[in-house]
Amino acid sequence: MNTPPHLSLRTPSASTPSAGTPSRSRPSRRRMLGLLAAGAAGAVFTGCADDAAPEVTPAAEQIPGGTVPPATGPAPSPPLPVVDGNQALQRLLDGNARFVAERDEDLDEGIARRVAVSKAQHPFATVLGCVDSRVPIELVFDQGLGDLVVVRSAGEALDHSVTGSVEFGVAELHTPLLVVLGHQRCGALDATIKALDSRRRTAEAGELGYIVDTLAPAVRQVAGKAGDRLTNAVHANVDLVLARLRQSPVIGPLEKSGKVKLVGAYYELDTGKVTVR
Ligand SMILES: [Zn+2]
Repeated sequence: MNTPPHLSLRTPSASTPSAGTPSRSRPSRRRMLGLLAAGAAGAVFTGCADDAAPEVTPAAEQIPGGTVPPATGPAPSPPLPVVDGNQALQRLLDGNARFVAERDEDLDEGIARRVAVSKAQHPFATVLGCVDSRVPIELVFDQGLGDLVVVRSAGEALDHSVTGSVEFGVAELHTPLLVVLGHQRCGALDATIKALDSRRRTAEAGELGYIVDTLAPAVRQVAGKAGDRLTNAVHANVDLVLARLRQSPVIGPLEKSGKVKLVGAYYELDTGKVTVR
């Protein structure tokens, strides 16, 4: 069945300057660390999964041929240890500042890092974001392999699978931070606005209708509110998603015990900047 135009999840037609495309060729911080000991990078994280400890064999010995491409240029400073949600949040925001300034030297997807995380993962944050192609979570926060648990759905719409995936991040992988990231000019929420305005039935639009129905409370909540309707709906939706996640019997107690910090955030397409709400 064709999707009615008013239910399209495509982005509103506003002009959207590029948020910047990071270079992917620079040496990474953890590539340097990995040359020393693959376990060193994992050791800076706490609140980690209970699975196997990181390998302590020098990464260079684990790579076919026994070599790692030589890093060039100065090695950036090692990351601060992440022991709680506040530190995890600071690390994310520092990464976003690098992304905004196109100083993404810390993005780590090199061979040494890949080897280092192949046996165990110790991500420091779980991020629920939109599927929008302009909001790739690892790039926006300038983080590399094994750093983030990323869950994405249109408009951060929750269903059993999305919520369960978020629970997996905080409860099984023990990330001390959970971020719900809304973004400027969200096409999913714009589609929801148009669907509600047209009073068209959403059920006939397949699973797109489910997303619209799920996001509708945020749109209704901002009816008559001053300011840009879509932006207001994006912020309201983040709040509603956070509220629903707090009702999770897995996430709620973790937040109450101080093991997980929940944060709402907003990504601005025009600047690339993430603002904690
Ligand atoms: Zn979106």
